[in-house]
Amino acid sequence: MTEQDRIGVALNGVRKSYGALQVVHGIDLTIRDGDFVVFVGPSGCGKSTLLRMIAGLEEVTDGEIAIKGRDVTDLDPSERGIAMVFQSYALYPHMSVRDNLGFGLKMARTDRAETERRVGQAAEILKIDHLLDRRPGQLSGGQRQRVAIGRAIVRKPDVFLFDEPLSNLDAELRVSMRVEIARLHRDLGNTMIYVTHDQTEAMTLADQIVILRDGRIEQTGTPRDVYENPVNTFVAGFIGSPR
Ligand code: ADP
Ligand code: MG
Repeated sequence: MTEQDRIGVALNGVRKSYGALQVVHGIDLTIRDGDFVVFVGPSGCGKSTLLRMIAGLEEVTDGEIAIKGRDVTDLDPSERGIAMVFQSYALYPHMSVRDNLGFGLKMARTDRAETERRVGQAAEILKIDHLLDRRPGQLSGGQRQRVAIGRAIVRKPDVFLFDEPLSNLDAELRVSMRVEIARLHRDLGNTMIYVTHDQTEAMTLADQIVILRDGRIEQTGTPRDVYENPVNTFVAGFIGSPR
């Protein structure tokens, strides 16, 4: 295995401007294949914009993005080997859970037996087998978020992208879903990039934590590195390092 094979995602000089407003400034970042990486920082620091550029939902103004050694900068989202989970679930209200889970595969013309197999697998992993015939309106917030995650799993992506997936849940549910997501990462072993403004989520989930401020990386490392050796008072204050 070469060093190149171990790289899950690589960002090289990635910038984003909206008109004259630059919101992401020349980000260089290497993510090891299989790592759980958390982008954390205050609201408005550019976390979602960065994630959406990796997903291909937002064009880069400058720079390159590679996934597993393949330059994806100019590829459509469907060609990048990624699946994204949003805060707002984005489920189809008129479809059953089963059809919500299988919809992306149907669009990709996956055959029916394979679709059923993958939907069954995802439902089992997320413990929503008993909900397959319900509609999103008949589910709790936590159950809806499981379906949203299931929709990503059935696509067998190389990289999972999560944008504040637990922000709409109450505190107790947030903790139990956080544990579920950590388990999912252990079981699947995929690269996962997870955006949050919640320090506790970041510190408990991450193999690598990336602290962003005003569109720049302030510091990156293991949660322990960052906690024990914050580079400045912003990081120390944000992470809650002892001073
Ligand atoms: P975060 O996810 O960290 O809260 P965002 O990536 O959503 O931050 O936003 C970063 C900055 O970019 C913010 O100042 C936001 O107002 C700005 N921004 C995001 N999307 C647009 C857009 N479509 N047009 C103009 N400005 C935008
Ligand atoms: Mg955001």
